[in-house]
Amino acid sequence: MPPTKEERREALKAVYHEAKGCTTCPQLAATRTTVVFGNGNADADLMFVGEAPGANEDRQGLPFVGQAGKLLDTLLGEIGLVRADVFVANVLKCRPPGNRDPHPAEIEACQEYLLRQVELIQPRVICTLGNFATKLLRGDPTGITRLHGRDEVRVIGARAVRLYPIFHPAAALYTPANVEVLRTDFARLPELLARELPPQPEPAPEEPAVPDAGADEPVARAVPDAEAAGSPPEDERYRAESERGAELEGDAGEQDPEAERELEPAAVQLGLF
Ligand code: URA
Repeated sequence: MPPTKEERREALKAVYHEAKGCTTCPQLAATRTTVVFGNGNADADLMFVGEAPGANEDRQGLPFVGQAGKLLDTLLGEIGLVRADVFVANVLKCRPPGNRDPHPAEIEACQEYLLRQVELIQPRVICTLGNFATKLLRGDPTGITRLHGRDEVRVIGARAVRLYPIFHPAAALYTPANVEVLRTDFARLPELLARELPPQPEPAPEEPAVPDAGADEPVARAVPDAEAAGSPPEDERYRAESERGAELEGDAGEQDPEAERELEPAAVQLGLF
């Protein structure tokens, strides 16, 4: 029997609690304020995957709360959606210090959380924002400049979804002409959401109690080659300051980080999952 919506939501909460205490990446665990698990509708048809939390996200425990998040909200509004309709997550759940690029080992270590989010939320469409999410979920180093605006069916974990790479909103803010490109790509989302769910792969057979040496390979996953999600080539780097850093910091000026931390957990904060 497939899990009910409520069971999936409870399982997602359990993953959230697990991630909250994660110390797999010692540097990230030592420098983060809070783990940014992602938030939104735990049963969303549309999921966004960004790169990693920035300074504001790290303080508030929520994804895309700076300028890039505002652009995301505006573009969502233009297609008749609000944050609570979608789920927003990142490749990394912790802020890389100084807004440096995620390291391949960190991407590899964190990908299990993202795969479990996809498995439990069961989105129809995953919109990857920028290079890191696109390369990770496609398991291929092709950059966002070539891929943006082109949907394709991909198997992520055990789920077939429509993957839709678009520019990262921070990249668009950095290069204003790209805001229109992003808007145009965003405008296709309603059509993609209205499409049939792609045929789903056969569920993996139940694990035998004693593993059979000749058992089938596990269900193919997108990803595994974290190298593929490594640093983008120079011409695709819109980078740190705009992506997650300096210009986003402005937003958090008046906030009291202690007070924000009180509001944790993110799950409760939106009351959605
Ligand atoms: N950029 C990201 O990739 N993720 C966030 O949560 C914020 C900015």
